[in-house]
Amino acid sequence: MLNVEIEPIATEQLERIIGPERSAQFEEAAASARELLAGRRVVNVNSTANGGGVAELLQTLLSYARGVGVDADWIVIDAEPEFFDVTKRIHNWLYGAPGDGGPLGPPEHARYEAVMRANAAALPSFAGPNDIVILHDPQTAGLADAVRATGAKLVWRCHVGRDTPNEYTEEGWEFLRRYVQDADAFVFSRAEFAPSWVDPDRLFVIPPSIDPLSTKNQPLTDEQVLGILQYVGLLGGHADPPSVPFVRRDGSPGRIGRRVDVLQTGPPPPPSAPLVVQVSRWDWMKDMTGVLRGFAAHLDAGDAHLALVGPAVHGVDDDPEAGLVLDECMGAWGELPEHLRERVHLACVPMHDPDEAAIIVNALQRHAAVVAQKSLAEGFGLTVTEAMWKRRPIVASRVGGIADQITDREHGLLIDDPHDLDGFGRAVRLLLEDRPLADRLASAAYERAHEQFLGDRHLERYAVLFASL
Ligand code: UDP
Repeated sequence: MLNVEIEPIATEQLERIIGPERSAQFEEAAASARELLAGRRVVNVNSTANGGGVAELLQTLLSYARGVGVDADWIVIDAEPEFFDVTKRIHNWLYGAPGDGGPLGPPEHARYEAVMRANAAALPSFAGPNDIVILHDPQTAGLADAVRATGAKLVWRCHVGRDTPNEYTEEGWEFLRRYVQDADAFVFSRAEFAPSWVDPDRLFVIPPSIDPLSTKNQPLTDEQVLGILQYVGLLGGHADPPSVPFVRRDGSPGRIGRRVDVLQTGPPPPPSAPLVVQVSRWDWMKDMTGVLRGFAAHLDAGDAHLALVGPAVHGVDDDPEAGLVLDECMGAWGELPEHLRERVHLACVPMHDPDEAAIIVNALQRHAAVVAQKSLAEGFGLTVTEAMWKRRPIVASRVGGIADQITDREHGLLIDDPHDLDGFGRAVRLLLEDRPLADRLASAAYERAHEQFLGDRHLERYAVLFASL
């Protein structure tokens, strides 16, 4: 198990964004959490320190928690690729999809439990009887007994789920039930995600948040955006772009030094071309190939480009299917007619330096004329909140948490059926053509993200949970 370093963020920094009144409210919640916890640690356990929404949100949340004096820790389990094959299958099943088609029977339980046992042995050095341990997602659910053995309170937070159960979700939950059913509390991003065996009195609904001060979301000037994207090769227009300075999460100076791997036939999009962007892990649920096909069918003419951007395929430890998904997407790209292939760009962002990766995504989201999140299922799309925060017009599927994030035609456009490529393509075109509409939706999206999805709101909801424990 690995202890991830967390830099505290002082509340004063957040106050500049949320204002004095909301900041005072936050301080009050923090004071009551401190009193309730009275020196107890809040130990979070997940399966990767980099890549994906959970790592992103732990980084944010725990920094704020530390900033208000809560003793919050973050531990990452050790596991080998075969373990992640099993947990990815559970993940897909909880979203209602068959994934790689393999089973979740006794051999999978055995493989899963072997890794859990090895990690369980290390747990007592991270948590004791007075602490609260929050296990995140299926990858850590099997540590529940070990947490109990330390005497700590046990919370299981599940970031995935599906509104309406199907045969896969039922079996996925069945796999996990034996491990977590006795947790002291459960946290889901939506109440609908919780399986029927979760006791409603122990169920807490807490939507994730973003950090407006992080490298991923900090403000950038137009020149910085352009400079970063030209340097990494995602935008053209400069023959020899200089490396761009940026501010790292801990406040120290950084400089872009890596280029992004881009699959394209022609040059990168010119800065003046409207760019449609989807940033997602290479996961079937994100339907990058569907985005490509919807774009190709509806934006055949015109000057818009599409960028499908994900992490380098070996960049996310707990995501073993990334290579397959990227291959499928490259195959679909290869079948496009030449003139469209020139306007569709697949890119993999190197993950060696998390701040550098974050600033590239930041710049890309800010440059986007339209941000797409055409997921087939989604717990809660942090990428959606990130785009809302950056005042971007958004086209997303009405699935899972996205339906809580965006009200259709108010904060963006929602596609009722996530498989509806036609509806998706039309919505993107509408936002590219009707810029006043796009701007109105984008402004409302920003207001909503500001009101609902920043770190203070998230911690206030956690304070309610701690009070119940
Ligand atoms: N992300 C990133 N680089 C990528 C793809 C995704 O930094 O190439 C980030 C993205 O900005 C967001 C998180 O990973 O912060 C994805 O969270 P989300 O909730 O949207 O989806 P998840 O990956 O958890 O399913």
